[in-house]
Amino acid sequence: MKLSTIGEFKLIENLSKIIGKAHLPVIIGIGDDCAVLNGKGTYQLITTDTLVENVHFKLHNDKSEYSAIGKKAMAANISDIAAMGGWPTFAVVTIGAKKNTSVKAIEDIYRGMLSLAKKHKIQIVGGDTVSSPQGLIISITLLGEVEKQYLLTRSGAKVGDVILVTGKFGGGEAGNRLKEARLIAKSNLATSMIDSSDGLVRSAVEICRASKVGARIKPNLVPIAKGATLEQALYGGEEYELVFTVPKAKASKLQSLLWKTARSKVTMVGEIVGKGKDGKMVGLIDGKGKEIKLENGGYEHFK
Ligand code: ADP
Ligand code: MG
Repeated sequence: MKLSTIGEFKLIENLSKIIGKAHLPVIIGIGDDCAVLNGKGTYQLITTDTLVENVHFKLHNDKSEYSAIGKKAMAANISDIAAMGGWPTFAVVTIGAKKNTSVKAIEDIYRGMLSLAKKHKIQIVGGDTVSSPQGLIISITLLGEVEKQYLLTRSGAKVGDVILVTGKFGGGEAGNRLKEARLIAKSNLATSMIDSSDGLVRSAVEICRASKVGARIKPNLVPIAKGATLEQALYGGEEYELVFTVPKAKASKLQSLLWKTARSKVTMVGEIVGKGKDGKMVGLIDGKGKEIKLENGGYEHFK
C-alpha cells in the first residue's frame, strides 16, 4: 500500500502502534504537540518540525526569503512548546541542501532562526548538515520546559467547556504566541491547548480525539484573517495560533486577562459537547444553522 492511500495521520497511528506505549520517565509520548519527560520540579518538552522546499515553501530568488524560512522553521517549533504551556530552551538544527546552494543562503537561514532564538533565549547547540539533491530541508528539534502544575495537553477538554482561539485564521502567517501561552498556562484556567499548525478544524479534531469529547464550531464566530475566506480560516493551517478550552464560566476571565496583560484578543469559536450518536466527534454549524460533520479536514501530507 502507498502512503498516499492512508495519508500522514494514519501512518503516524500505525507507527505509534509499532513503537508501543511510552513508559516512565516519559509522561506523554506520541500524540501531543510535544513529548513530555519527567524532570526535577519541571517537565522537559521535546518537539521537532521540518520544512521542505516545494512542500512548505517555494524559493523566489528574493533577498530576504532565506532568513524568513529560518524564522518560520523556528517559529513552528516554538509554537509546539507554547502549546504545552512551556518555554523553549535548546535546539539542534539539521540542514539539507543542494551542492550549488549559496553559502550565504544557509547563513541567512541561520540569521533568521537566531533572530527568534535570541528573542526567546534559545541556544542552538548542534545539528547535522547533509546534501539533499531535491532541495532545501530545514529540521529543528527544540527542547523546552514547563512547571509541572502548568502543563497543558490536548486531552483535558470537558463537556461544557468553550473553545477559545488567539489571533485570526486563514492568513497562513506564522504567529508566535509564546507570551499568551504562558499566561494561559499560569492562569490555571484552561483545560486543554494545541497550536493550529494544520488548521482550526484539525486542531479541534485533535483536542476531541485526545479528550474523548465532541465539539461544535460556529463558523460565524471564527476570526478570519484579512483577505482570507471562511474555508481557508477553517481548514487553512500554518497560523500557529493557540486553540484552547476553558470552562464556560471562566472564559471571560481568561479573555480579559489576555487583553489586559498582552493586548491579545481571544475569541470564542465554539463549545465542547459529548460525542455524537454516530461516534463522530465534531460538529460544524453551517450558515443555515444545520450541523454538518467536521471529520478531519486541514492539511495532510501524502494526500
Ligand atoms: P504537530 O503538528 O503538533 O507538530 P504532528 O501532527 O506533526 O504534530 O504530529 C502528531 C504527533 O505524532 C506528535 O506527537 C508527533 O511527535 C508524532 N509523530 C509525527 N511523526 C512521527 C514519526 N515519524 N514517528 C513518531 N512519531 C511521530
Ligand atoms: Mg502542534
